[in-house]
Amino acid sequence: MNNSKIVYSIANSDVINEGDLSKFPIPEINEIDINLTQLRKNYNIIRSLLNPSTKFMAVLKGNAYGHGMVTIARELESYGCDAFGLVTLIEAYTLRKSSIKTPIIMLAPIAPSQASFVIEYDITPMVDNMEILDSIEKCASDKNKIINVHIKINTGLNRYGIPSDKAIKFIQNINKKYIHINIDGIYTHLQDPDYNSEMTYKQIKCFDELINNLEKKNLRPRITHIANSSGILKYPQSHYDMVRCGIILYGLEHKEGDLTLPYGMKPIMTIRGRILKLCKIKKGEFGGYGRNFIANRDTIAAIVGTGFGDGISRGWKEVLIAGQKVPVVNYFMDSIMVDITDLMNPVKEFDEAVIVGSQGKEEITWEDACRELNSYIDEQIQHITERVPKHYFYE
Ligand SMILES: *Cc1c(COP(=O)(O)O)cnc(C)c1O
Repeated sequence: MNNSKIVYSIANSDVINEGDLSKFPIPEINEIDINLTQLRKNYNIIRSLLNPSTKFMAVLKGNAYGHGMVTIARELESYGCDAFGLVTLIEAYTLRKSSIKTPIIMLAPIAPSQASFVIEYDITPMVDNMEILDSIEKCASDKNKIINVHIKINTGLNRYGIPSDKAIKFIQNINKKYIHINIDGIYTHLQDPDYNSEMTYKQIKCFDELINNLEKKNLRPRITHIANSSGILKYPQSHYDMVRCGIILYGLEHKEGDLTLPYGMKPIMTIRGRILKLCKIKKGEFGGYGRNFIANRDTIAAIVGTGFGDGISRGWKEVLIAGQKVPVVNYFMDSIMVDITDLMNPVKEFDEAVIVGSQGKEEITWEDACRELNSYIDEQIQHITERVPKHYFYE
């Protein structure tokens, strides 16, 4: 692959410099490949669904949904992405320390004690109470700066935000009391856009009414936003001034069947592990710990170097070896045991297995894996651990 690089993320980065990696003997026992050309395609397709003036916030929480926050942020910044959405201040700090200049908007509350930090690192906080505003105003006035904030409105999710009927008063109070605070944005979050359109329409209507009322009073903030991935695809009227795009940017959905991704959008991640050992197990013998696997025939097993310590949950059903789907029969922290007795083609040690992705004509998607695990894609992808090296490439 041309233009490729291996990036070791947070778990190893405090001891390994990027420069050291040229000396590093590949193959590693497992790795994640991330296709940055496909990321760009996904981004462009989503952009093409939006009004040209609508801003694009890429949501990079959860280590960019497991894809590696810093590299994905650098890439998106080069496309001209308008904002990044994050949840913790450490994420925001990490991006600023990586020379990312794109506006960062917090999607979770900050504590009053963190106000001076967000000012120092140019992070836009989400606000939904007066204590935090008091604290921001005080720090901003000490530093003689004007601070942008985004106000969160609760329209039915009942997680963060001030009730929509209190919003106007809240904004009037801010404008009256806080001369160092600029209300740059106002937003709300959809409760169940995948499955409950009645609720979604109700929330959009509620937000619309609020925006109209703010306009009448000349209080409308510059950026209004509500849409997550499903909002983007299913509710064009929810795009407003900016969308907050998470999971579909990575070519995925939360749960199988939630969304129909537009033609051309694809997952950007492949997970691979090497066959570390080929073993013969006689009929009636155990394979691996406990009684999970007892061979009911003479069996050939491959030990593939990726386990629950890498994020492959117990219950993972199958992987691809030599272009064929083969069953996983036991689980270890650092590997899985795969029954390859029925493989058509020969394999040898250190050949590749594909855990998620395609090999030859076959493919295992996150949707396939999560169907077997009875789980959600956004949840399982968070199980991938930091020790798995990420290999980014352009096609
Ligand atoms: C996570 C999150 C998003 C992105 O959601 P997706 O469905 O993954 O696009 C958007 N807005 C807020 C407030 C979030 O917490």
